[in-house]
Amino acid sequence: MDERTFERLLAEDLEWQKSVHRYRRLRVVRAIDATHLEFEGRRYVNFASNDYLGLTHHPRLIAAAREAAAAWGTGSGAAALISGYGEAHRDAEEAIARWKGTESAVLLPSGYQANHAAVQAIAAMSNGLGGDVRFLLDKLVHASLIDAVRATELPRRVFPHNHLPKLRRLLEEADDDQLQVVVTESIFSMDGDAADLAGLGELKRQRPFVLLLDEAHGGGVYGPQGGGYAAEAGLAGIADVTIVTLSKALGGIGGAVCGSNLLCEAVVNHARAFIFSTGVPASVAAVAKEAIAVMTDEPWRQQRVRELAGRTRAELRRAGLSIPDGDSPIVPLVVGDESAALRAAEQLREKGMFVVAVRPPTVPRGSSRIRVTLSSAHTDEEVAALIAALKDLWPSTA
Ligand SMILES: *Cc1c(COP(=O)(O)O)cnc(C)c1O
Repeated sequence: MDERTFERLLAEDLEWQKSVHRYRRLRVVRAIDATHLEFEGRRYVNFASNDYLGLTHHPRLIAAAREAAAAWGTGSGAAALISGYGEAHRDAEEAIARWKGTESAVLLPSGYQANHAAVQAIAAMSNGLGGDVRFLLDKLVHASLIDAVRATELPRRVFPHNHLPKLRRLLEEADDDQLQVVVTESIFSMDGDAADLAGLGELKRQRPFVLLLDEAHGGGVYGPQGGGYAAEAGLAGIADVTIVTLSKALGGIGGAVCGSNLLCEAVVNHARAFIFSTGVPASVAAVAKEAIAVMTDEPWRQQRVRELAGRTRAELRRAGLSIPDGDSPIVPLVVGDESAALRAAEQLREKGMFVVAVRPPTVPRGSSRIRVTLSSAHTDEEVAALIAALKDLWPSTA
């Protein structure tokens, strides 16, 4: 194939993306603070960020990043197993493990990679077990989990979202020596609803399985010190493998696999996503550690974002809008097709509220939506204006 044909095929594919309203492009925004940004010369209130606690611009986190970069440089220079792992990394991992209540934690450059690393560590066991590992995934888990599991080429099944009776049937159909790994999220990223952790705990007692729980959106917003949704539910020990991202409520970048010492050793020994990638800069580790300290010192941030989420959800429901169950700061308004979601987001932007449309493949076909997220840094007036704008919008999208 010559270069011209290659370019033509790329162009044809992108034309198709446009024709089905799935074309994506980067927007250059200028972050002003946790909840305000400038875009094409205009100032917006940001309702599209996962900075639930307003930590991205916290002076203590900025100072931690500066000091660590000044002390140890801007890059780690090598994979953690070579020479890219220092005191800052060890301290952050210990702080993360204490925060999650696990024996150990392993730091990775992103939550996406943390999910790959966790799944790879589990998949490595299939060698010892003669290949008998099977993954059971909630239908709505994040793309990083789907990609990670697919890449193992091990058997996998998908159960309908939060459908524990169906999960039970899948667990029962397997033979007893098969290692079954249930993969789910505590707070679902695009729907903002929660997994039934009590139900999963009950099922686990009856039909033992390994639970991989992605707490990307539970961290910070739930639990003492923001330790997560499982901690909030009084089920801190329920997951065998917990994934955290440092990029959402924690206001930085990176991810971690948390669990037993043995699990973390398996990640270090087997996970290609860990072994073959450069260690995070010390500044990234220092920011994560400081974020955990700030969450402990400033519990009002969690209270505030949850209060705003509760208020928004209640007022929208009272106005007849249909919002999925739950109380998280992720509030989706499902409008159906891609172009309706794009239009709704555009209308909110016209009112100075920065919101984006979420379309397939991020969400299932026919469930395109606008996804609004709240932060402790939003003012009462900003949230009131958002609620009013969503109510205005609704008759035209229902
Ligand atoms: C954002 C997200 C990830 C990926 O985390 P990054 O740190 O952004 O790479 C993983 N899982 C879920 C559920 C997420 O929402």
